[in-house]
Amino acid sequence: MKIAPILRNYCPNYTSNAKNSVSVPVRNTNVVNSGVKSNLMGDCFVKSASKPSFTGIEKTALSIIDKIPLDEKIASIFSMMRFGDMLITAPAIKDAEAALKAGTKSFQQVIKRFIFVPEPKLQSPLAFFKDSMGSVEVMNLSKKTVVLKDNISGKSAPLMQYDKYFVVDGDELTVGDLKIPIKSMSTANLSMSRNYFSQIFDFSEAVQSTIDAQNAKTIRRMFKPTNVAAKKTSFADIGGQDKALDVLKKEIIFPIKYPEAYKNTVLNHGFILYGPPGTGKTLTAEALANEASANFIKLNGLEMESKWVGESEANWRTLFDTARELQPTVIFIDEFDAVAKKRGGADVYGDKVVNQLLSLMSDVEKNGDEIYVVAATNKLDALDDAITRSGRFGRKVEMKAPETLKDMVNIFNIHTKNRVLDENLNVEKHAKKLLDAKATGADVAYIANKANEYSFDRSGVYQKMAEGTFIPSDVEKLVITDADFDRAIGDFMSERKTTQRKPIGFIHYDKKNS
Ligand code: ADP
Repeated sequence: MKIAPILRNYCPNYTSNAKNSVSVPVRNTNVVNSGVKSNLMGDCFVKSASKPSFTGIEKTALSIIDKIPLDEKIASIFSMMRFGDMLITAPAIKDAEAALKAGTKSFQQVIKRFIFVPEPKLQSPLAFFKDSMGSVEVMNLSKKTVVLKDNISGKSAPLMQYDKYFVVDGDELTVGDLKIPIKSMSTANLSMSRNYFSQIFDFSEAVQSTIDAQNAKTIRRMFKPTNVAAKKTSFADIGGQDKALDVLKKEIIFPIKYPEAYKNTVLNHGFILYGPPGTGKTLTAEALANEASANFIKLNGLEMESKWVGESEANWRTLFDTARELQPTVIFIDEFDAVAKKRGGADVYGDKVVNQLLSLMSDVEKNGDEIYVVAATNKLDALDDAITRSGRFGRKVEMKAPETLKDMVNIFNIHTKNRVLDENLNVEKHAKKLLDAKATGADVAYIANKANEYSFDRSGVYQKMAEGTFIPSDVEKLVITDADFDRAIGDFMSERKTTQRKPIGFIHYDKKNS
């Protein structure tokens, strides 16, 4: 008997073939492949739901298949089901669609294939799963109670919405007037006609890549590499930058820590920290990586500019690949203006670098990678317009030198917390002087070091060291006094007069780092 296909494949790329296939011979399968989408229900499935096509069906075939009871049909499907499959039976595909959409959360597993069996006599949708051991489970997808009668005890139990139970041979489900005996094997061999009473939506490929990516992410989180900022700085080490820290907390740390809360949020992945040297931009980026338990990759724009010439595009790609492998990752680019500065006319190299960076940032956004690029500059105005226009570095965070006494005291305390201070030390007095001098955080760090040195000097420790008579107890009772700070701040002020270009702390750190 020649049987024309009962159900067509509903995917757009299949329906075009179907037009000419009214009397094509039996097809092996009516698998609908989802293509690239990883949506568990699949676009194809959802789109197709409203247009099942029964054209071309021969009445005899349909009437025969109509007569096959539902329990026989589902038993036949059970024998070919795998772990990750879901058999759903409902009056029509639109009922299945509605039930699936409403019940997604209750499935508790990744569904790779949906197998749909229409049953007009069934009042409400039912789902069947096969577990990894091959046992079958049933789930009631509707609000109407389904009754499950246990074969062995003869007892019945109600299955409420989203209840899931194992079923075995001889059990019986009652849905309204319809009784569905559970069979692990169909009485008749229906394997040849399975395609005519069921429809398979196969998303295994797309789902697999999502599962792989998720597993890789989980493993990465378990075995985090240790190239996190070496010094364990935290936000508590940064003074007077509450506003900036608040932005970074809300836009980077919380999304990394609580991704569930940001599912529907378009996140910023590019941040520009701008402000004078020594205000804590680098410190903040390092602390940020630590606070977010993220990996930290630090680059310097000036070095990149000289080292990467000619191969910068490949280098950027490698950098982002590494960041992706290590994610969550904070990429910190200091002296960003050196790589992303405005260029006049013929500097093709510069344009290319900026475009490459923007395109990599766009991939990060598209993939939802946990990569955040934090760029620092002292010269916001010097940045290429393409950077600011693109919106990829949408968040500009200003870092200023401290402007209030409270902030200055805070920074002073941070840099003296591990030193022994004279109990009468007049912190406010020094903080006030520093504020008037527009000292930055780096300057305060420098001054605190200097004051410590002066306390060594004052108590003759250096002299003892030079004479070789130094013993550890010489520093045990040492305290830093007002006089030591006065001297250190005095030095700072006079050095400041002669070094116009950079705050002194910056010079100090340049030296230290070189
Ligand atoms: P920037 O990157 O803005 O030039 P850095 O982060 O390199 O500044 O600052 C250098 C050092 O100065 C830091 O390691 C820290 O010791 C100190 N410092 C700078 N800003 C602050 C701040 N706001 N709070 C505490 N310390 C700071």
